[in-house]
Amino acid sequence: MKEEMLNLIKEIKRTVKLYNEIGMLPPISSRREEKVLEEKFLEKINSLDELKKYLDGCKKCKLYKNRKNIVFGEGNPDAELVFVGEAPGREEDIEGRPFVGEAGRLLTRIIKAMGLERRDVYICNVVKCRPPRNRDPEIDEIKACLPFLKTQLRIISPKVICTLGRIAAQALIGRDFKITQQRGRWYSYKDIPVMPTFHPAYLLRNPSQKKYVWEDMKKIMEKLGLNEKNKEVD
Ligand code: SF4
Repeated sequence: MKEEMLNLIKEIKRTVKLYNEIGMLPPISSRREEKVLEEKFLEKINSLDELKKYLDGCKKCKLYKNRKNIVFGEGNPDAELVFVGEAPGREEDIEGRPFVGEAGRLLTRIIKAMGLERRDVYICNVVKCRPPRNRDPEIDEIKACLPFLKTQLRIISPKVICTLGRIAAQALIGRDFKITQQRGRWYSYKDIPVMPTFHPAYLLRNPSQKKYVWEDMKKIMEKLGLNEKNKEVD
């Protein structure tokens, strides 16, 4: 399928070049054509493995240049709960797995405190390649990679999405989302309830904020019918 997609894109580029050579505007811009084609192609993908194969070697945005690994995401493909962070960090880039650094270990403790294991949930990021020096992903990078996250969410079809930090909330809820003022309330992404909370990396810098995240997790547990048998995350 990937081969088919690449051939189609090549064909469109060739057509656009021909139009340009004879001084005419192509019917629609090649970039838009590519976007439409990719959307159509992604709609046909119905498994995470297939999507992962499609992403293999992706160079859609400049983040490919410095990455060691694409950090696709991991966990239960039928998870009821999906955690979405913003981007892989150094350790994630090296291991090719999401949330394995210090912030990841804190997320694992949060998941356990909810009475779950990492293998019960699905964990991924908005962008799949590490931004240099862990800077925030830029708008063009988010735009390029977001269709892959959206496809992951369509395939998994969870009961609840928990966004971690501002970038993930803005990607799924809206560009104006303000994490400090708006976390802890229910939003919706394609009819899936979304609970935005702080990123674990922020909690490492601001441990006093953990209690708010725990409040948000309790709302998720209630939505999922999980018993609240645990106490706050330390
Ligand atoms: S961040 Fe996403 S779009 Fe950019 S190169 Fe990596 S996988 Fe491709």
